Amino acid sequence: MNTAIEKYEATIGLEIHVQLDTKSKMFCRCDNNSENAEPNTNVCPVCMGYPGVLPVMNEQAIDWGIKTAITLGCSINPMQRFDRKNYFYPDLPKGYQISQFFYPVGEKGNLKVDYLAGDRKTKKEFAVGITRIHLEEDAGKLVHAKDATLVDLNRCGTPLMEIVTEPDIKSPEEAKAFLQELQRVVRSLWVSRADMEKGHLRVDANVSVRPLGHDVLGSKVEVKNMNSFRFMEQALRYEIERQVDLLEKGERVEQETRGWDEKANATVSQRSKEGSVDYRYFPEPDLPSITIGKEKIDEVGADLPLLPSALRLKAEEFGLPYARVNELQDLDKLAEFASVMTENNNFDPILVANWLPKEFVGEKAFTDFVEVIMANKLSGSSAQKLYDLLAKTKKTPAELVGELKSLSEEDLGKIVKQVIDDNPEIVAKVKAGDDRVKGFLMGQIMAKSKGEAEPALAQDILNRILTE
Ligand code: ADP
Ligand code: ZN
Ligand code: MG
Repeated sequence: MNTAIEKYEATIGLEIHVQLDTKSKMFCRCDNNSENAEPNTNVCPVCMGYPGVLPVMNEQAIDWGIKTAITLGCSINPMQRFDRKNYFYPDLPKGYQISQFFYPVGEKGNLKVDYLAGDRKTKKEFAVGITRIHLEEDAGKLVHAKDATLVDLNRCGTPLMEIVTEPDIKSPEEAKAFLQELQRVVRSLWVSRADMEKGHLRVDANVSVRPLGHDVLGSKVEVKNMNSFRFMEQALRYEIERQVDLLEKGERVEQETRGWDEKANATVSQRSKEGSVDYRYFPEPDLPSITIGKEKIDEVGADLPLLPSALRLKAEEFGLPYARVNELQDLDKLAEFASVMTENNNFDPILVANWLPKEFVGEKAFTDFVEVIMANKLSGSSAQKLYDLLAKTKKTPAELVGELKSLSEEDLGKIVKQVIDDNPEIVAKVKAGDDRVKGFLMGQIMAKSKGEAEPALAQDILNRILTE
């Protein structure tokens, strides 16, 4: 790595395409779930761009765009309109893409992100401005076979939501944290499955570097083709180093589009950037503009779920350390955690977090389970036994704990006394200060209890009686 990298700062802005999980496509009635369909079977004259056909707006897609924009704190445009973005490409039979250029769904939003630093302990926080959110339709796909390139139009007309950020991101790890947070947000809204590997979430990353303290941003490079969080992080790391190297050599960074080549582990130049004027945007004449009134915004904005960051904060307020909050969030258990803690504010948050990843038949069973563990001061291993019993029978935790408690403190005490009475010589040795033989007594206790004794408790009782 070039050590000069410390004399520079990086600036990153992301353009993210989110595939909306609507029932039908953006402007026709074709099924919007054609991932597994045979090529070119999930198409109609509208999405294949036949002349003379008319697009019809998908209201669900419009609503979901507004929903996301509200969630990301954007101001919602009261007038929305679609525009034609003209370009030629073999996967675009119409010769234009219907998009929103002049009047996007929403503008000037913001997403606060917190994430777990590399030390797996510290919480880091930053905020990213959202420049705009707009809707558009997807193009088809080119399939590169051995000696030919084939066209599959199934994806034509799939609803996309494009989210553009301000250049507020300062490092590859922040870029990753932001994108993961955005994935959680759209998933919590149920507007997209947002699976990066499947292309439901596609990101173009714009990155530039400048010497520390410079006011003006360096010229940016746009990196495409990163289909995982890891690849995006790697591509950005590579690109930042490449740009620093150029500047250190006294060369310029060329403004261009580059692609991430996962085999070469490098970004490679694709084309120098064309300006937006090339697309000759103009209002889509086949679609009416739409007025988004207050009622619409109220309707769509009603009952929005808590933001993932709010859920995390709630969990922290319940006393869960941030690193544990982070683990539960990976398992999608944070909402459940908050709900259990809200209902039972006497519960030990760590205990709840420890057991939540397991499968319980409903929240009631889970609550009963934790209650029984706490009331009976069960150790981890006894709790595990109780859980195993629970999974096997239809009994409640309260009924089952009786079976475990066959080795209550009282019963265990009897066994310990018995073992002490049976081994007077050993006991004498221990009392004389030879602690090594204590293990023998413990072994006897465990054997007599058929392994059902709580080792820590047995040890306690043994020590107590021996020092009496
Ligand atoms: P373009 O017109 O080239 O598409 P935009 O101004 O629309 O550029 O910005 C596209 C994306 O690039 C946005 O996410 C923005 O935040 C980001 N961006 C703009 N300038 C820079 C820069 N100098 N360095 C890094 N990212 C940038
Ligand atoms: Zn269609
Ligand atoms: Mg742009």
